[in-house]
Amino acid sequence: MEGIKRKETWEHDIDRKARLRIPPPRLDYRPVEERVQDFEEACLGFSLESAMEEASRCVECPDPQGCVLACPLHNDIPSAMWEISEGNFLAAAEIFRQTSNFPELCGRLCPDECLCAGSCGVGKFHPDIRLGRLEAFIADKQREAQGGIPIPVMQKPTGKKVAVIGSGPAGLTAAEELAKLGHEVTVFDMHSQPGGTLVYDIPRFRLPINIVEKKVEQLRNMGVEFKFGMCIGRETNLDSLFEQGFQAIFLGTGAGLELRTEIPGTNLEGTFLATEFLRYVNLSENEFPADKEMQQVKDKHVVIIGGGYAAVDCARAAVRMDAKEVTCIYRCELEMLCRVEDKIAAQEEGVDFLPMTEVIELLGNGQKYVSQARCQRLRPSGIGPRAQPIPVEGALFTMEADLVILAPERGPDPLIENTTTDLEAASEGWLLVDDDTGLTTKEGVFAAGDNTGQSQLAVIAIADARRVSSAMHDYLMAMRR
Ligand code: SF4
Repeated sequence: MEGIKRKETWEHDIDRKARLRIPPPRLDYRPVEERVQDFEEACLGFSLESAMEEASRCVECPDPQGCVLACPLHNDIPSAMWEISEGNFLAAAEIFRQTSNFPELCGRLCPDECLCAGSCGVGKFHPDIRLGRLEAFIADKQREAQGGIPIPVMQKPTGKKVAVIGSGPAGLTAAEELAKLGHEVTVFDMHSQPGGTLVYDIPRFRLPINIVEKKVEQLRNMGVEFKFGMCIGRETNLDSLFEQGFQAIFLGTGAGLELRTEIPGTNLEGTFLATEFLRYVNLSENEFPADKEMQQVKDKHVVIIGGGYAAVDCARAAVRMDAKEVTCIYRCELEMLCRVEDKIAAQEEGVDFLPMTEVIELLGNGQKYVSQARCQRLRPSGIGPRAQPIPVEGALFTMEADLVILAPERGPDPLIENTTTDLEAASEGWLLVDDDTGLTTKEGVFAAGDNTGQSQLAVIAIADARRVSSAMHDYLMAMRR
């Protein structure tokens, strides 16, 4: 945690036993019947009083605090909790912004029960402190109070030009870090608007778009330039960017390619990939002319195959599009990689989850449309959470499925690597990078986040991009002009 400004002492005169007795206050959600009618944010978050109460549950564990260690950004959570408990929301937001480029995002998207909140001492015997929701709450409060995301202290211009490819969490973070250090930054994105996966793949009920827009506005105010509709590897390539005068390139291209699934019948009409479906959900018809069949979710039996974030997002979106029945089928809890809060919200909204089940075939209706899913029940092969699921003999069944969404694992798009000399990837497609600096096999090209095989969480992409941006700065400053 080198380089993080921490208070020399942040222990306050608190009654730990009394704090442990504070009941967790309510975290408000919009009523189910109201929120399934639209795509507005489902969680209303805390009120001022309930945020102070929730933060007061922090007992200031002695150093090293589990929450700080477990946060990939090592946010100084105990200091922030103290400020919130005292009603000092702006001070708390500043603490998060010291180590995080996007607290309003991480607070909403992190599976905090597996990260900071999961390692909090209070959570061992009492309900978890909702650290992510508190982080989002105070970051929102600061943004609203100050009319935008504050601009960090900027270094003097260095005269160096940097290209950032991709404007998802890694790209936006690298753009901010490098601009802050005085470099001239241009972000290239293949889409027509910035945000990458944040705008195209995550529904608005989980991440309102104005949060991404405010981030882009902040970066523009810092001098970052954005160029859209530029697919690197198609319209131009990395060598040509160097020829145009860029002295270093950051690849934050993510992992947007869904890996192949071997289930027979996935070529039937009415079967879609989660990315296609989410783009249809998130974009206007002009931007994404969707398949006619996809528009007809109403009254369909929607089956989603997979258990991660994308699967749960598709399920909740299908509910909002008046599907008759929505079922998420997945093999085991290890596949169920999503925030518990989101799974609970999905269940409240009427999504059925069918664990320990595998779809083995999709069946057609005699014409060309999918109509049923043939499923196999599974059981754990042994004891413990890592036991692989195996089929239960004879336990087969068929269920109605007239719209099927496949949400398999994702991998990186090989386009840039295929069109660039000297840029190498491992056999699974992840870019080969130096563990410390993020330097790829090509001189001057760095990469961070999902395209290097990191776990596909926004907070990890942000942490990785911060580390790599600092190495890029050293590289640029060591360069002769
Ligand atoms: S960034 Fe994520 S892990 Fe870190 S404090 Fe925020 S919610 Fe917790």
